[in-house]
Amino acid sequence: VSRHDARLRRLVGLMPAASIGAVVVGPGSDLRYLTGYHALALERPTLLGLRADGRAVLIAPRLEGMRARAEVAAPMVEVRTYGELDDPYALLDTVLADLERPTVALGDQLWTMFALALQQRHTALSWRPASELVSQLRMRKDPDEVEALARVAAAIDRVHLQVPEVLRAGRSEHEVAVELADLIRREHDEVSFVIVAGGPNAASPHHEPGDRVLERGDVVVVDIGGTLDGACSDMTRTYVLGEPPEGFDAAYEALERAQAAGVAAVRPGVRACDVDAAARAVLTAAGLGDAFVHRTGHGIGLDTHEAPWIVAGDETVLEVGMTFSVEPGFYVDGWAGARIEDIVAVTETGVRPLNLVDRSLRRLPG
Ligand code: ZN
Ligand code: ZN
Ligand code: ZN
Repeated sequence: VSRHDARLRRLVGLMPAASIGAVVVGPGSDLRYLTGYHALALERPTLLGLRADGRAVLIAPRLEGMRARAEVAAPMVEVRTYGELDDPYALLDTVLADLERPTVALGDQLWTMFALALQQRHTALSWRPASELVSQLRMRKDPDEVEALARVAAAIDRVHLQVPEVLRAGRSEHEVAVELADLIRREHDEVSFVIVAGGPNAASPHHEPGDRVLERGDVVVVDIGGTLDGACSDMTRTYVLGEPPEGFDAAYEALERAQAAGVAAVRPGVRACDVDAAARAVLTAAGLGDAFVHRTGHGIGLDTHEAPWIVAGDETVLEVGMTFSVEPGFYVDGWAGARIEDIVAVTETGVRPLNLVDRSLRRLPG
């Protein structure tokens, strides 16, 4: 059985208990996960329909037919193409008609225009988000997937080791970001994002690099990621140009301890929310609880952000093969901010950090 057929069969196996009659996903990571097909997101629908009885049909526009047949690595999926004047949705009727359980799970990344067209055609069905089922599969990585994440983590480690060559006072965040994107591209298939947040901008976790010129004394948060063989990297280190502001070293020292506590809490049987609590407790004790304005982390795989969520309320019990970020930070408006982010994998004995670059504050010449 191909790895993708095996995934489709596991998904079929989850449907009865969830009272789902069929699953429909469009272009994006769910489709890639289930079939291997890296489909273009077009206004013409590309849809995979999978019935609880195992029938699987992928519809694609005729001009994508060659790519679809070449890339769909799941023999149980029948690929059907439609012409410019055909009704594409009619080709999915064999999957959505006469369902034993009249509820269809729609991919979370399916465009609204396709979801509405399906809903108009099949008025007797009810609809649920497919993530309830698909994320159950996707968050449990097999050893090959963990190794792919380890390789892409090593790639972004190599980029962070080169940051000192491009980050200096007198350059704008944007100039630094352009050079970092180039370095990421050399180590990855694609660049996913580049955050360079200096001085006051370091207090904004997802700051978009802009024209502000970096100055002596700036703390600079560098959070970068790309993709390699379908696996995502996502890693943050914090740098300082010369001497950091008053009080920053002590806050950063607490952040290092918080990140280490989060990682140390990871092992099979612990809940995702427990990892968040472990990291958060350290920052709260240091008086930085209010400045830690986001969750401790997120799952990572085909998407940069996916389940599980390392946050209060996510009671997912960690299992071997789950992979996620541990990335506490603190952000103080008008002062500074900092974050340390590593990707980790849950192992039999505990945890395997996939990013290995030194986590201490990297001091660069001003
Ligand atoms: Zn983020
Ligand atoms: Zn990140
Ligand atoms: Zn992240």
